[in-house]
Amino acid sequence: MKHPLIFLGAGPGDPELITLKGRRLLDEADLIVYAGSLVNPALLQGVQAEIHDSAAMTLDEVLTVLITAWQAGKKVVRLHTGDPSLYGAIREQIQRLAQEGIPCEVVPGVSSAFAAAAALQVELTVPELTQTVIFTRIGGRTPVPEQESLRNLAAIRASLCIFLSVSMIEQVVAELLSGGYPEDTAAAVVEKASWPEQRIVRGKLAEIAQQVREADIRKTAMILVGAALADTPAAASKLYDAGFSHGCREACVR
Ligand code: SAH
Repeated sequence: MKHPLIFLGAGPGDPELITLKGRRLLDEADLIVYAGSLVNPALLQGVQAEIHDSAAMTLDEVLTVLITAWQAGKKVVRLHTGDPSLYGAIREQIQRLAQEGIPCEVVPGVSSAFAAAAALQVELTVPELTQTVIFTRIGGRTPVPEQESLRNLAAIRASLCIFLSVSMIEQVVAELLSGGYPEDTAAAVVEKASWPEQRIVRGKLAEIAQQVREADIRKTAMILVGAALADTPAAASKLYDAGFSHGCREACVR
């Protein structure tokens, strides 16, 4: 029996932020195709596999390499940055592989959204402020459906993790303000979260674009926006409230 072809989440950059399963699959692989623009090459040090960087390859070229290797009985890993389910373009690959009769398995990874939240030491879901997180981007060369425009999402006032958009930070801010976020909403940009060169810019929504320009952050950055990022005193969560019972603990009755 041939192994399934593995789509693997590499994590956000720090080579220790890959799952144990992912580390083992990289070490056991015969062929790895990785997204060279974002995956930390340190993850590939010492592996025995033949390695291809997909950065300069077309979808067809990537698929040809994957299919040929799999059909030759090799253990094949397609390595994507962060978690493969977010902006990973895995759907088109999995569908084409299915047409060839090639089974796939997806192994999750730590998204850069979570590495950025960790760098800021924030909780994205703060009781009574927001219980919703939105992963999104601004429309660029890849369009975003109009109902999901940042202007429309702003009305929800959730915590936003905005990918692929820092080069258009002025438009991001303009849309969010026109959609209803107050000017003093907390915002942050984390460049290269979890890498040694990680940088953080924090501020108010109305000022963050200028701060990002001054820091000269142009790519590989996560924009986070929302009241959850502010260090206003938090409402206590129900989970640890003495009067709130749940599956693991009966409420104290006094
Ligand atoms: N699947 C990836 C996202 C791929 S899209 C994930 O789950 O993280 C690429 C975008 O992700 C970049 O434009 C940037 O917005 C974000 N990104 C990737 N790595 C990052 C990092 N280490 N720090 C901050 N943002 C990052």
